[in-house]
Amino acid sequence: MREVTVGTADLAAYQQILGPERSAALRSGAERLAGLLGGRTVWNVNSTAAGGGVAELLHSLVPLATALGLPVRWLVIDGDPRFFAVTKRLCTLVYGSPGDGGPTGEPEQEHYRRVLRANSEDLAGFVRPGDVVVVHEAQPAGLVPAVAEMGARVVYRAHTGCDVPNENTARGWAFLRPYVEKADASVFLIADHVQGWAPNPHVIAPSIDPCSPKNVTLSPAETVEVLRAAGVLSGGSGRPVTVSRGGPPIEIRHPVIAVRDGAPPDAGAAMVVQVSRWDRLKDMAGVLRSFVAADVPGSYLTLAGSDVTGVSDDPEAAEMFDECRREWAQLPQPIRARVQLLCLPMTDMRENALVVNALQQHATVVVQKSLAEGFGLTATEAMWKARPVLANAVGGLRTQVVPDESGLLLEPSDTAGAAASIARVLGDPQLAAHLGAGARRRVREHYLPDRHLLRWGRLIENLLP
Ligand code: UDP
Repeated sequence: MREVTVGTADLAAYQQILGPERSAALRSGAERLAGLLGGRTVWNVNSTAAGGGVAELLHSLVPLATALGLPVRWLVIDGDPRFFAVTKRLCTLVYGSPGDGGPTGEPEQEHYRRVLRANSEDLAGFVRPGDVVVVHEAQPAGLVPAVAEMGARVVYRAHTGCDVPNENTARGWAFLRPYVEKADASVFLIADHVQGWAPNPHVIAPSIDPCSPKNVTLSPAETVEVLRAAGVLSGGSGRPVTVSRGGPPIEIRHPVIAVRDGAPPDAGAAMVVQVSRWDRLKDMAGVLRSFVAADVPGSYLTLAGSDVTGVSDDPEAAEMFDECRREWAQLPQPIRARVQLLCLPMTDMRENALVVNALQQHATVVVQKSLAEGFGLTATEAMWKARPVLANAVGGLRTQVVPDESGLLLEPSDTAGAAASIARVLGDPQLAAHLGAGARRRVREHYLPDRHLLRWGRLIENLLP
């Protein structure tokens, strides 16, 4: 187990976005909580410092909480490939999907417990009685009883869930329940995901960080420059590009690994984008099929995910990327030349974030065709950039997007319907602008970090003795 050190946020930048009233409410909420904590620490425990939504959230909230004077820290557990294969299976099951179909019986329980026992010994070196520990997701869930025994308050934060529970969901939760039910409170992404047996359940929607390299506003010229330097658009000069925004300058030095046939798209071409981990439930291949069926002349599709060699807690990523690549290779020309699959280097996560940002800002249409979703941060990120988002009506995406106001909801598994929506928005710039403006308003109202931190603050206040 190791601590992730993330520094402190620049409060002035947030104040500029939030305005005086919301900034004052955030400051006074934080002061109150800091007083009640009286020197006790709030710990976050998860399984990775980079890649995926949980890491994304903690990179934003921990520095902001620190800047507000709150003692919030972040620990990442260790595990071996077998452990992460089991936990990946658990997350997929909780989503309601069979995943790799592998077992979750006693041998898996035993290995899971063994790995977490070693982690709990490390954890005991950090946590003091009276502290609050937020355990994120299935990977560290087995630590809950040990944390309770340390005399700390423990909250289980679920980041996955299933709209219509089935036998997979039941199997996933059956594995996790003996640990999670020992928590003092549990937090779910949406009301439909709350388990009947969950201890002291709450619903809190996650937020995005408007000041991070992922979400700061770039000018159209900067966007194109970044994408050219990363090799996403054609016309790059071969020279590295540097963008400065608040923190240290970010240099685009590692070009994306691209699967494509022919030159990268021109900056002027309409582009459909999905950014997601290479994961079965993100259904990148489904986006590919919908794009092909939409067949809008001149438009491009970019499917972008993390470098498949770089994500230690996601053993399935390389397989999913290969599956998508095979499907791409079978496309006829000329449409094959209008689709690119990208692996975004993870050597420097600020650089990675800036490329994702530029991709989302540059997109004509952003798609999130997940088959299941806890809460699709990628959709919120694109909405903040005033992009028209077309998202499958699953999980949190159903609450994030208000149809026809802040995006469009797609019927999962209806490829023809998704294709028609892509064609409709690509062909109607006025509709695209209307949905984009509504999307930005919605994120401002519901999904910025002040609202998120204040909700957590109230929950933690109620847990303190
Ligand atoms: N992400 C990223 N680089 C990538 C792929 C994804 O930074 O190459 C980020 C993405 O921008 C988002 C997060 O990872 O912030 C994914 O969160 P989401 O809730 O959409 O899905 P999850 O991966 O948690 O299932």
